[in-house]
Amino acid sequence: MKSRKLLMIPGPVEFEHEVMQAMGAPTNSHVAPAFIESFGNALELMRKVWLSPSGQPFVVAGSGTLAMDLAGANLTEPGDAVLVISTGYFGDRFAELFRRYGAEVKVLSSKPGEVVDTKIIEKELEKGIYKLMCFTHVDTSTAVRVDARLMGELGTRYNVITILDGVCSVAGEEIRQDEWGIDVVLTASQKAIGVPPGLALLMASPKAMLKWSKRKQPVFNYYADWSNWLPIMKAYESRKPAYFGTPAVNLIEALQISLQLILAEGMEQRFVRHEKMASAVRAAFNSLKMKQIPISNELAANTLSAPYYPTGIKGSDLIRHMNEAGIIVAGGLHVDLKAGYFRIGHMGSVNSSDIVSTIGALEQALYKCGYEFTCGKGLEAAQIELSD
Ligand SMILES: *Cc1c(COP(=O)(O)O)cnc(C)c1O
Repeated sequence: MKSRKLLMIPGPVEFEHEVMQAMGAPTNSHVAPAFIESFGNALELMRKVWLSPSGQPFVVAGSGTLAMDLAGANLTEPGDAVLVISTGYFGDRFAELFRRYGAEVKVLSSKPGEVVDTKIIEKELEKGIYKLMCFTHVDTSTAVRVDARLMGELGTRYNVITILDGVCSVAGEEIRQDEWGIDVVLTASQKAIGVPPGLALLMASPKAMLKWSKRKQPVFNYYADWSNWLPIMKAYESRKPAYFGTPAVNLIEALQISLQLILAEGMEQRFVRHEKMASAVRAAFNSLKMKQIPISNELAANTLSAPYYPTGIKGSDLIRHMNEAGIIVAGGLHVDLKAGYFRIGHMGSVNSSDIVSTIGALEQALYKCGYEFTCGKGLEAAQIELSD
């Protein structure tokens, strides 16, 4: 029997074969012409994936939290008022990060499964004190998606720098950074970008770069300081070597390959595919009478889903039975709800047979747990969505 299981968690995800080949290739020198070309090309391709022709890309070795740190360290100075719109776990992390850099942080939190009311955000912005506004596009702890276009509009209207934590959305959910006026869009390699963990990726608008360039104080975080990284990004993009810290050579080679694959599919098609996969998963939950954390389909993300365990079913048993059926899913993350729900990632290269396998494994697991339902009901609903 095939021993490899399918990784259906919200990152790391399943990676394409070509990407893994780049990971396993002999490591180049970081100043070899072939690597300089790959790095330069990856930076150019990022602008296309981010839909941000005017953006300044950064690729730095680290996890998604480093991408958050790059934004926080470079764009806040002590005393800056920062508005954090929190829909869960990662919004709270961002608030803590901003405080470390001396920002005056105001957090507007939603209930789990909901978003913060626009009127409440506007009322806060009307005070006119905020330099930055930060939000989590898809909160990985609740599978709730915030309307990024609307947040960009608010940021523009009230003249604040907007930061989008897109670690669970970039290259899966629709984001048009330039058109929507979002200043920073950041992510990590292991989620919808489709590269093993290890790269922090960030795109900064000219407005964000200007705020950074006018800092009165140096950036307090040495490794994250754009003064160290901007010359490197510029050098590689103009196909010259430069050194600050050794780049993650194989990861960057793999990034170039993955970005090429993403663009070969096309951003519009990619958004549509993620929508379709997610609607199939949601349809299956509905027909299996399983509730989800997002209170409506409009607020539910396309990159992951967060269903509650049905009443009377032990979560650890359900996850174990799914694992036995070859599908790895993730437990809960939101501190208040952790034990009551689980998460299925469906982003990156995910295809319809991954979804069918996942729902099939879910049905087997529910059956073994003694849940009352008609076997095949969830699959039927998913198949209809997928075949549409
Ligand atoms: C995964 C994730 C992060 C953190 O990324 P790490 O790579 O685990 O550091 C931050 N924000 C969101 C929305 C995420 O999904």
